[in-house]
Formats: sequence, structure tokens, C-alpha cells
Amino acid sequence: MMDNTNDDEKFMRMALREAQKAFEEKEIPIGCVIVKDGVVIGRGHNQIEMLKDATAHAEILSIGTAAGHLENWRLDGCTLYVTLEPCPMCAGAILNSRVSRVVYGSPDTRFGGCGTTVDVITGNALKREVEVVGGVLADECLGLLKAFFQQMRLEKGDSGNKGGSGLEAPGPSNEP
Ligand SMILES: [Zn+2]
Repeated sequence: MMDNTNDDEKFMRMALREAQKAFEEKEIPIGCVIVKDGVVIGRGHNQIEMLKDATAHAEILSIGTAAGHLENWRLDGCTLYVTLEPCPMCAGAILNSRVSRVVYGSPDTRFGGCGTTVDVITGNALKREVEVVGGVLADECLGLLKAFFQQMRLEKGDSGNKGGSGLEAPGPSNEP
């Protein structure tokens, strides 16, 4: 198999740019791109607040745009890059859409669905083979999230979270 390291970092930087868009829209900064044959065919960032939709995660929106691009819901041969480990909902969507490979940045110690808190992918009942690679540019991905929560706390006078998004303070900082 080829060494994917350079490409993985290149595409993770594109996912980080998507996450930055979320940051600027005051959404939890998580971004995603979907790549097939070296070409980006889908992209998205968390838009839970804007769309008032708890399912509007970066991965779900990206899977939708990739399927639209291909005019096919089957994403065989595609790699999904996302800045934070997919949650169980998104891991399920990854299986259903037949994505072949998942590359994530920071592990999510609160609600990671690809092995950190639960593992939806390994040994899945659909018998889909999905390669999972974690920790690509993890520090940068987590750093963006930390910067976001820090800014939100400053803007709100440290009154804590407003609830609902289910993704407050992911990452190692959330450990008891
Ligand atoms: Zn998700």
C-alpha cells in the first residue's frame, strides 16, 4: 500500500479550513472533506446552530455533498477527513454510505464513535471494511476547538455552556 501520510496531512489541512469557517460562524469548529482519487468531492463544517439541526455535523453534510457530486449515495473508494473523531451517529452514516477510509484529527474522549468511547466501525454488523486512521494533525485540530471554547467563555463571562449541541469541550481537557 502507498504511503498516505503526506496526502493525509494535505487533506486534513483542507478539513481544518472548513473547521475555521465554522469557527467564524460561531459554530463548534469541526470540518470535513471527502476525497476520491485525489480530488475533493465533498466538504462541510458543523452547522448545528445555523440549521437548527442536531444532525448537521460536518461529516453528515459532507457525505451529502459528495453523494450529490457523484450522483450516487455509494461512496466506495472515498476517504473522509474530519478534524474530530466521528461520533456514533456519523460513524453509522460512514458505514451506510460505504466510505472506504476515515482519517480523523483529534480523538473525542467524550463521544468518539471510532474507538475512543465506543467503536461503531470495528466488527460492524454490516460487515463493511473501513480503514480508520486517527491523530493526523491532532494538535492543530484540538487547538482550534480549545480556542473556540475559550473565546465562547470570554464572550459569555464564563457562564458555562448553553447546552444542546452535545459537543461541549471535547478532548483531553474534558477528563475528570
Ligand atoms: Zn457526528
